[in-house]
Amino acid sequence: MSDCIFCKIVSGDIPSKKIYEDEQVIAFHDINPQAPVHILVVPKKHVSGVNELAAGDEALVGHVYGVIARLVRELGVAESGYRVVVNSGADGQQSVPHLHFHVLGGRLLSWPPG
Ligand code: 5GP
Ligand code: ZN
Repeated sequence: MSDCIFCKIVSGDIPSKKIYEDEQVIAFHDINPQAPVHILVVPKKHVSGVNELAAGDEALVGHVYGVIARLVRELGVAESGYRVVVNSGADGQQSVPHLHFHVLGGRLLSWPPG
């Protein structure tokens, strides 16, 4: 989508601190980190959010988790712990309408979230 921030990051039109890329996903550091480790794992295909996932996207979501499992090891938080968050809709405070998985770690994360 031409006016989507994360599509522009996928295409390289907006720069990012990229840490991983393959045919299906890209991962980069969040511009406004909320923890010592805060990355976003983003499907390259534009899907607005969880509600817009279609039949056939299961493999993509599974692939995202495989990438997350690899990246948390590389980032050194696999053993200390981390959180994977997908904010959805207004109450979930989703601000970018392109599906993305936050990975937060490197500090004790409070629960429940605010
Ligand atoms: P949401 O609020 O939709 O769950 O998460 C969007 C996230 O994208 C926020 O954590 C925000 O800091 C991050 N973000 C927004 N614009 C940019 C950008 O241009 N570059 C990067 N790296 N992160 C961004
Ligand atoms: Zn997009």
